[in-house]
Amino acid sequence: MALILDGKTTAAAWRAELAAEISALKAAHGIVPGLAVVWVGENPASAVYVRNKGRAAEEAGIRSSLVHLPESASQHELESTLDRLGADPLVHGILVQLPLPPGLAAEAAQERIPPAKDVDCLHPVNQGLLALGRPRFVSATPLGIVELLRRYAVPVSGAHAVIIGRSAIVGRPLAALLSRRGPLGDATVTLCHSRTRDLAAIARSADILVAASGQPDLVTAAMVRPGATVIDVGINRVPAPGTPSGSRLVGDVDFAAVAAVAGAVTPVPGGVGPMTIAALVHNTVAAARALAGAGTSRAAATAGGAHVSAGGR
Ligand code: NAD
Repeated sequence: MALILDGKTTAAAWRAELAAEISALKAAHGIVPGLAVVWVGENPASAVYVRNKGRAAEEAGIRSSLVHLPESASQHELESTLDRLGADPLVHGILVQLPLPPGLAAEAAQERIPPAKDVDCLHPVNQGLLALGRPRFVSATPLGIVELLRRYAVPVSGAHAVIIGRSAIVGRPLAALLSRRGPLGDATVTLCHSRTRDLAAIARSADILVAASGQPDLVTAAMVRPGATVIDVGINRVPAPGTPSGSRLVGDVDFAAVAAVAGAVTPVPGGVGPMTIAALVHNTVAAARALAGAGTSRAAATAGGAHVSAGGR
């Protein structure tokens, strides 16, 4: 039976460290990190995410605000809101909860966030810095995954990491992170997607297999090399007749079958999700420090920051 990589407990420990750092930041510099989450419309899954992000931020000592715009909001209203938050000195981190309602352009909105406050790392400047191997921020989900691997001492250097999914928020930045030179990088990365030929054979060659496709049960036991580490990013709601809600959350991995083969695996829920939220707290603290000129985050020395700057060869 595989080791379960417990994201819930690991994230709680990380958030506690960040809470201590936030207290110290306040005591030494009078800075309270501020996070603004912009949510447009009424998507029910987004409602859960924005609530969880706000709660985790506040518990860590961040001043968090939810800016909720109606489904009918125009692109101009959204961008004016982002301009206002961008100019607000009490707000250090801004994120736009996706998906946006139809008719609103997510990319134009992301580009409206000042790069120094772009804690989701979706601004082209920040994506570019990450691609160059010298990130200012690392997108929260990839940072959470790398931090989980680090805290469980999963060997990454020289490993073959296979990532299924090439989105700008998960697959691509994770590929950049794992393949960069230096600690927690130096993996050989294969980035797979919906047009990949013989996904099963490529997946079976992975030491670290990351599933971020949004396809329930895409990863079967036959796709996992015995002993491999399997990271399940997927969050999919599937019908569950007979349960009170009539549905349940599953990942992209056939968990029960894969846990019998893998060396380690993340559960859904309780794996990557909580680590993503802790990573957002981390990025907000890093943004507050940088904007206030308060030096490098202590947490950055272990997560996403300092070790990422190690060259690009
Ligand atoms: P996306 O829809 O933008 O991208 C999905 C990717 O998977 C695409 O690159 C596509 O080519 C690939 N793909 C789809 N079907 C495939 C197949 N059959 N074989 C190979 N590749 C295939 O997705 P996203 O935004 O990256 O999210 C992916 C999943 O991760 C979703 O379930 C999402 O809810 C979840 N997610 C979870 C977290 C978290 O914190 N746990 C964060 C972000 C996304």
